[in-house]
Amino acid sequence: MGVPLTRPADRALARPRRRLPAAVAALAALLAVGAGVLVGLATPAPRPADAPADRFSAERAYRHVKVIAARPHVAGSAANDQVREHLVGVLRGLGLETEVQDTVAPEAGQLSGAAGGATLARVRNVVARLPGTASTGRVFLVAHYDSVQSGPGGNDDGAGTASILEVARALAAGPRPRNDIVFVLTDAEEACLCGASAFAAGHPLAAGGGVVLNLEARGSTGPVIMFETSRNNAKLVDVFGRAAPHPVGTSFAVEIYRALPNDTDFTAFLDHDFVGLNSAYIDGAAVYHTPLDTPAALDRGSLQMHGDNALGLAREFGRTDLSDLRSGHDATYFPVPGGLIRYPGWLTLPLALAALLAVGALGWLLVRRGRATAGRLAAGFGLSLVPIVVAPLGAWLLWAAITAIRPGYAGLLDPYRPVWYRLAVLALAAAVLLTWYALARRRVGPAALAFGGLAWLALLGVLLAAEVPGGAYLATLPALAGALAGLAALATRLDGPWPVVAVTLAGAVAVVVLLPSVVLLFPALGMAMGGVAALFAVLLGLAALPVVDLLHPQAGGQRGLVALRARRLGALPATATALAAVVLAGVGLAVDRFDAAHPVPSHLMYALDTDTGEAEWISHEDHPQPWTAGYAFGHSPESVWWFFPAVGGADESVWTAPAPAADLPAPAVEVLSDTTAAGERTLRVRLVPQRSVRLVSLHVDAATAEVKRAEVAGRAVPVGKQPTADEALSHRWGLGIVFHAPPPEGIEITLTVVPRAERVSLRAMDASDGLDGIPGFRPRPAAVGVAGSHTSDLLAVARTYPI
Ligand SMILES: [Zn+2]
Repeated sequence: MGVPLTRPADRALARPRRRLPAAVAALAALLAVGAGVLVGLATPAPRPADAPADRFSAERAYRHVKVIAARPHVAGSAANDQVREHLVGVLRGLGLETEVQDTVAPEAGQLSGAAGGATLARVRNVVARLPGTASTGRVFLVAHYDSVQSGPGGNDDGAGTASILEVARALAAGPRPRNDIVFVLTDAEEACLCGASAFAAGHPLAAGGGVVLNLEARGSTGPVIMFETSRNNAKLVDVFGRAAPHPVGTSFAVEIYRALPNDTDFTAFLDHDFVGLNSAYIDGAAVYHTPLDTPAALDRGSLQMHGDNALGLAREFGRTDLSDLRSGHDATYFPVPGGLIRYPGWLTLPLALAALLAVGALGWLLVRRGRATAGRLAAGFGLSLVPIVVAPLGAWLLWAAITAIRPGYAGLLDPYRPVWYRLAVLALAAAVLLTWYALARRRVGPAALAFGGLAWLALLGVLLAAEVPGGAYLATLPALAGALAGLAALATRLDGPWPVVAVTLAGAVAVVVLLPSVVLLFPALGMAMGGVAALFAVLLGLAALPVVDLLHPQAGGQRGLVALRARRLGALPATATALAAVVLAGVGLAVDRFDAAHPVPSHLMYALDTDTGEAEWISHEDHPQPWTAGYAFGHSPESVWWFFPAVGGADESVWTAPAPAADLPAPAVEVLSDTTAAGERTLRVRLVPQRSVRLVSLHVDAATAEVKRAEVAGRAVPVGKQPTADEALSHRWGLGIVFHAPPPEGIEITLTVVPRAERVSLRAMDASDGLDGIPGFRPRPAAVGVAGSHTSDLLAVARTYPI
C-alpha cells in the first residue's frame, strides 16, 4: 500500500466496497437456493422394519432383495426358479390371486419388422391381482425379477421387484382400491424384454391396456428419476407431481433417454395399448450388470424413494378414473425443492419466443440508456459463445487425459467414485467462465456480456422448443428471468438494493432450473460425456453473470493503478478454480484406484467350433488390458461373425486368439420332417441343447437357401428381407433365430426355404455362462473384474448341419 490514492480512484474503490455486502448477500442467497435444490434431489431416510403397515419400509423390502439377489439368476436358470417360488409365495401369502404366465414370446418391437433375425424366450412371469371395488381400468406395477448372467442383480432389478412386493403388502393391508391393481414381475428382461412382451401382448389382464409403473435401476444409488413416459403425458405427469412423495423427473430426461441405447420392459408395454411412467435410480453405475451388483451395494435411501413413489402413485392411480388419462399433449416438467413444476407443452414455443423478445428489448434499452453500444452488444454476443464451446471441450480433454492415465475406465459406464471427477469438471467449467469473463469484461463491459449470455440462452430455447421441446425450459426460463430482471432494473431506474435483488432473483431461477440437470446429467451420461454437464454449468453461469459481476473487483470501473490491482484480483477466482480442477482430478486418480473391491472390468468369451475342433478366445474390449491380452489377442473382426453369428454383429470389432479345444457337445439338430412342394422345401427340425445352456441359436447359410417363412415353437416369426445369393458370399447368414432359456427337450423350428444348393446348411450354436474348467482359462486376479455385458464369460459351442 505504498502508493497514495488519488481522489477519483479513491471514489472508484469506494463503490465496490459499498457493493461488497450486496455481493455477499446475493451469493449467499444463490448458494442457499442451490443447497435447497440438492436437498430436494436427496433420497429419503430408509424406514425401519417396524414402520406402520400402511407405509413403505426399505428395510422390509431389503429382506426380499437378499433372497432375490442371493446369486445370479438369469432367465431359465434353477436360481431363477427359486426366486420365482419366493415371489409367488409372498404374493399368495398376501391373499392375492397369483399365477405364473408360462409361455414363449418374441422380443419387444420385433413383430414391427426387424429384418434378418428373431429373438424369443421361454418366459415365466409372476402375475398377481388386487381386485378393485369398481374398476375403471387397471394399474400395473412392473419390475423384472431375472438378473444378468454376470451378477446377482441386487439393484437391477432386485430393488424394483422387492419394492413391488412391499407395495403389494401395504396395499393389501389397506382398504380395497377402486381400480384393479396388477403386480407383474417379468422374466427375461435382460435377454430380450420377452417377459414384458409376453404379458403385454398375450395376458388376459393386459387386454384393454392400462397404466404401467415400471421400476428399474441402472446403478446402486442416487435419487429415483421418472425418466420416461408414454406420449401425451400431461395428465400422467400431473398425477406424478401430485402423488409421488419425491417427484424427481424432468421432461428433458425423456429426450436424453431416447438418445441412449437402453431399453426396459416399459418399451414392450408402449408397443401395446398402455400409458405410464418409467422410473429408475442411475448413480453408482460402475456396478451395473456386474458381480458387484449385490444386495450390499444397494442404497436403501434409493430403495425407500422407489417404494414411496410407487406406493403413492399406485394409491392415486388406484382411485383415479383411468378411462381418460391421455391428454392431447406432452407436459414440460422439472423438479423444484418440494415439488414438480409442470406446464403444457404447447406453451414451450410461445415462452421461448417471449424470452427472445425480452432479451431483444433488454438490448435495445441497454443501448438507449447508454450502458452499451450496439457494437458492444454484438461483441458480447459473439464472445459469449467462447465459454459455451470451450468448457465442454475442456471437460472432454480432461477425461481423455484421465483415461490415458487409467485406461481401465474405458470399460466402465462411470468410475466407482466419480464425485472427484465431477467436481473437477465443474471447477474446470467455472475456470473457463471466470477467465473468459475477466478477459472479455475489459473489452466490452459487463452489460454487453450479460446480454450476450442471455441472448444465447434465448436462442437455444427457441431451437430446443422446435427440436427437443421437453428440454426447452432449461434455456428459456433462465433467459426470460434474466431479461425481465434486467428490464426491471433499467426501465424503472431502480435504486438502492433493488437492482441486486432483481438479478439475484433471476440467478435463483437459473439455479433452480439448471442445477438439477447439471447434477443428474453426470450419472445419466457418465464421465465420458461430462462435457454435457459442463455445458449446462456454463449456461447456468452465463444466466447468473450479473451476480458474478457483483463479485468482480473491477465492478466500480476503476482506472490506472487501482484498475491494475483490481485486474490482478480479478484473475484470482479464475486461477483458483483452474487449480481446483487439476487438484480434484488428481484426488480422483489417487482415491479411485482399481482394487479387489473396485476391479477393472474385463471382457472374455470362448467359442468352440466342433466341425473343425478349433476354438477361440474373444474379447469386446476396445484395447485389451493386460489380463485379457494374456490370451495373445489379434484383431480379426469378421471371423467371429462368420463362425459364431449369434455372438457378434458383422460390423462389430472384436479381438480373437486361438484357444485350446474343450470337450463339449454342440446342440443337436434332429430332422422331424422334410417335404418339398412347388419349389419350396419345408424343414421341420428340433434344436436340442446337449448341455445346460442360457440360449440356443440357429442360422441359415444364405448361400444354400433363401428363407421364405419360419415358425419357432409354433409361432410365426418375421423373416425380413433375406440376402440374395450374391450378398450371401460376403455376408453368409440369412435368417437367424436366438432362443433364450430353452427347455431341455429343445425347441421345434419350421423353415420354408427356396433351396440354392442341394443341402441347406444350418449353423447351430448354444451358449452357457462361466469359463471355469475351459483348458487354458486362468481365473482373474483380485483387481480384475467381469465387465457388465450380456456376453461376459460366455461359452459358445457351434456346429454346422448340412440337411
Ligand atoms: Zn439390466
